[in-house]
Amino acid sequence: MGKKLVKEMLGGKASSLARLISLVEEGSKEVPEIMKLIYPHTGKAYRIGVTGPPGAGKSTLVDKLTALMRCRGAEVGIIAVDPTSPFTGGAVLGDRIRMQQHYLDEGVFIRSMATRGSLGGLPETTAEVSRLLDASGKDFVLVETVGVGQTEIDIIRNADTVIVTLAPGFGDSIQTMKAGLFEIADIFAINKADLPGADNLMSDIQAMLSLRPHESTWTVPVVRTEAVSDVGTEELYQQIEKHRQMLTETGELYRQRQEQLYDEFVGIVQRRITKHLKSFIEQDSELSGYVSKIESKEIDPYSAADEILNSPSLMTSWCFGLARSQET
Ligand code: GDP
Repeated sequence: MGKKLVKEMLGGKASSLARLISLVEEGSKEVPEIMKLIYPHTGKAYRIGVTGPPGAGKSTLVDKLTALMRCRGAEVGIIAVDPTSPFTGGAVLGDRIRMQQHYLDEGVFIRSMATRGSLGGLPETTAEVSRLLDASGKDFVLVETVGVGQTEIDIIRNADTVIVTLAPGFGDSIQTMKAGLFEIADIFAINKADLPGADNLMSDIQAMLSLRPHESTWTVPVVRTEAVSDVGTEELYQQIEKHRQMLTETGELYRQRQEQLYDEFVGIVQRRITKHLKSFIEQDSELSGYVSKIESKEIDPYSAADEILNSPSLMTSWCFGLARSQET
C-alpha cells in the first residue's frame, strides 16, 4: 500500500500525502519502506522553524507568511505541533481554524500534531512528516512549536532557519534565554509590536544579542511584527531569504543538513540497539541476574557493564540476536 501511496503523492495527489502522514503518525510498520522510497525526492524544500511561548502570535505569523509565500507562487507545507491533549481534539480543531484562511488552496498543506499521545518520539515523527511534505514538492515547510521543552528544541533544530517569536507580556526575555531559545534563533520576531512593552522587549533582546560571541557570517536580526494586521511580514520574509542566501553561499546549509542527517542516522541505530538490548536483558538469565545483583548492591552498574561488555559469549549471542531481530 505504501508504495502506491508514495507514487500517487509524488504525482501530486494531496489525499495520498495525507494518508502517508497518518501512517507515520500511527507508527505503521510501513514507515521505513515509505521513508526509503521518498528519500531520493527530498532536500528541495526550505525548512523554517517558528517557535516561542504560547500566545506570542506564532500561528498568526505562520498564516501571514504562508499567504505571502503563496503570492510568490511557492507551495507551502505547515506542521503545527500543538500542545493540546489529543483527548480534547485540540489538533483537529487547530487544523480547522487554520484551514479557514487557506481553505481550498491546493498549494498549502496543513497538519497539526498533538504533543501528547504520539506514537514513537515526536521529533522523529515530525522529521518524517516534514520529509513527506518536502518530497511532495512543497517549496517551504514551516514547523511551528511552542518553545517550552527539549522535545520542541529537538524538532526545531531540524529547520534551516529558526524564527523565535516573542511578544510583550508573554514570557520575558530572560525566560527565553533559560529555555535555550536564544542559542537557536536565527531571526527574532518581536510580535504584537502594537502593544506597550514592545520597545523594551526589543532593546532587551538586542542587548542580549550584543553579548553573544560575534559571528562574522550572520548577525541575528530583530524584526518588529504585528502579525494580526500583517505588518512586518514582508520584512520577516526578506530576513528569511537573506539567511537562506547566506547559508547557501557559505556552504553552511549543506554542512548543517549533513550534520542533521548524521544525527538522525546515529539516532535510528541507537534506538534499534537500545530496543533490542532491553528485550535481550529481559530474556537472558545471566543478564537479568546482573540487574538483580545491581539492585541488591552486590555489584555496581559500571562494573556490571564492564563484565558484560568483556564477555565474548554474551556479546556474541547479543550480536546474533540483534542481527536476527533486524531481518524480520
Ligand atoms: P500562538 O499561540 O503563538 O500561535 O499565538 P496566536 O497566533 O494564536 O495568537 C494569539 C493571539 O494574539 C490571537 O488572539 C491573535 O489574534 C493575537 N495576535 C497575533 N498577532 C498579534 C499582534 O500583532 N498584535 C496583537 N495585538 N494581537 C496579536
